[in-house]
Amino acid sequence: HIAVIGSTNIDFVMHVTRFAQPGETMHVRSSSTGLGGKGANQAMAVARLGQAVALAGWTGQDMLADMARTTLEAAGVNTRWLLEDTTCGTGRAFITINAAGQNQILVDGGANMAHADASLAHILPALDGAGLVMMQMEMDPTLMLAIARHARAHAIPVMLDPAPVPADGLPEALCALADLITPNERETAALTGIEPTDETTALAAARILHARGVGTAIIKLGHRGVVYSAPDAQGFVPPFRVHAIDTVAAGDCFNAGLATALVTGHPLGQAVRIAAACGALATTRAGAAQAAPTMDEVMTLMAT
Ligand code: ADP
Repeated sequence: HIAVIGSTNIDFVMHVTRFAQPGETMHVRSSSTGLGGKGANQAMAVARLGQAVALAGWTGQDMLADMARTTLEAAGVNTRWLLEDTTCGTGRAFITINAAGQNQILVDGGANMAHADASLAHILPALDGAGLVMMQMEMDPTLMLAIARHARAHAIPVMLDPAPVPADGLPEALCALADLITPNERETAALTGIEPTDETTALAAARILHARGVGTAIIKLGHRGVVYSAPDAQGFVPPFRVHAIDTVAAGDCFNAGLATALVTGHPLGQAVRIAAACGALATTRAGAAQAAPTMDEVMTLMAT
């Protein structure tokens, strides 16, 4: 199986004509409530691709936790190591989207951010027998470092999505434990100081990441495609032509596709193509986890 160690949130999404002013009360045009958090999104997307997956992390002990767990389990995600904390609420994100498609996002990490080393013993069993572990940056970096060390000691590859890049950068030790790292354009610029716009600039950024101990760098360039760089292989995968309507969670679906392809034995170049097809398909549908494609849809897009 794939182990995802990461965040679980409930997202409250509001569509408005314009953003509210200080002191103003405003009715929204429409709203929705759903599962979010990069950990949950990536786990849901892996499950949708038909691959066994467990999500480890924390929710609060509240009705949002029940909602998250029900949604994850209905999708086939193993939640045995998704623990409930009695002292913190379930993570939540308040997302406002205006008529121009711009957003304002407020996040309360809640239970996601409240744990470090002391809790490690409770979620480490999620890694037993895993073919790969996926992590993002919505948890305590100290905890992530300990998990990455454990994974390395057990020869389990670590795929690190450096999102969001912490204000003080990525801990160097965590970088050195990343077998694969998957930054998007903004994250690549924050990590390396290089704005990746094409294969040449992305490979220059990748070299900086390799120098920090990263095994394989996979640089997601949105509608421009993706560049990969490993010790023994590098290349560019052009974007699949799709009608993109909502790019939310394109990166999460990309990572799910990459992880699934790698644990099922595809070589890196082919795995990146599968991932790019997953990312492209995710942009053709609204929403985060619910936008994730099935493997049949991925194969159909790749065959066209
Ligand atoms: P993130 O969501 O992390 O910002 P990106 O926007 O870079 O990530 O998208 C991840 C991947 O999804 C891209 O590298 C690409 O393969 C695919 N993708 C994203 N947007 C498009 C698009 N408009 N058309 C085709 N593929 C896309």
